Amino acid sequence: MGKYEMGRALGEGHFGKVKLARHADTGAAFAIKILDRQRILAMKIDEQIKREIATLKLLKHPNVVRLHEVSASKTKIYMVLEYVNGGELFDKIALKGKLSEKEGRKLFQQLMDAVSYCHEKGVYHRDLKPENVLVDAKGNIKVSDFGLSALPQNQRNDGLLHTTCGSPNYIAPEVLLNKGYDGSLSDIWSCGVILYVMLTGNLPFDDQNTVVLYQKGEARIPKWLSPDYTPAMSFDDENISDDNLHMTEHQDIEGNATISQINAFQLIG
Ligand code: ADP
Ligand code: MG
Ligand code: MG
Repeated sequence: MGKYEMGRALGEGHFGKVKLARHADTGAAFAIKILDRQRILAMKIDEQIKREIATLKLLKHPNVVRLHEVSASKTKIYMVLEYVNGGELFDKIALKGKLSEKEGRKLFQQLMDAVSYCHEKGVYHRDLKPENVLVDAKGNIKVSDFGLSALPQNQRNDGLLHTTCGSPNYIAPEVLLNKGYDGSLSDIWSCGVILYVMLTGNLPFDDQNTVVLYQKGEARIPKWLSPDYTPAMSFDDENISDDNLHMTEHQDIEGNATISQINAFQLIG
């Protein structure tokens, strides 16, 4: 593609491929997201792609994937992205089973930095999950895939977002209610799910059947997780017993589903 030499595939998206590419003059590596224009039109996602590009152009943060340029041919659109060479956070967790609390804390802080930066810019990601969080060679995270993101102009007069979208295991309950939701709170919910997945290697809420999944209310907090990570840390009652801190009724996480690749969905509400 133009001044880029295309290399191996890095990932498969819903609407196209992501390939490693090298700039012919500088030798610098990039990841190019290649989208088929006909498919974009057929799937009526042209607005979504425009939004992904507009969003990425706004964002410049060490923990957010950078967009270098966009180019188009008659048949394709190419998004030239910063190449993040450590793969998806999803694979990192899957490979290790789970992350240490030390590493989880570091990555979660970076995720919070990135997400709060996006929110300051009025950008709500709406599809935060370990597949869309990439890890670089130094082990730092880069939030990516803003394909479902919303900008301030997408909010209605009530200041809320109204498009039901996301990935089933990571979606906030209020997004499913179809009454409008605060994009910053729904992103934070997804970050909480990511934190749980990083530290336990399991999904806090899971079922093959989304009807059943969406009725799940309480996550099991494993006993071995340090008290820093238990919901009870929000109580400053010193008399709470250790058992309460660890929610003994739900301490056994055996039988919980391990993480699985989940597809995003979107319903225009
Ligand atoms: P989709 O919107 O279809 O989910 P993504 O933007 O998430 O597409 O890209 C699909 C996959 O391609 C990612 O999950 C990741 O594995 C890989 N990928 C995407 N962007 C990059 C990048 N900048 N560097 C390295 N790999 C990437
Ligand atoms: Mg993705
Ligand atoms: Mg996407």
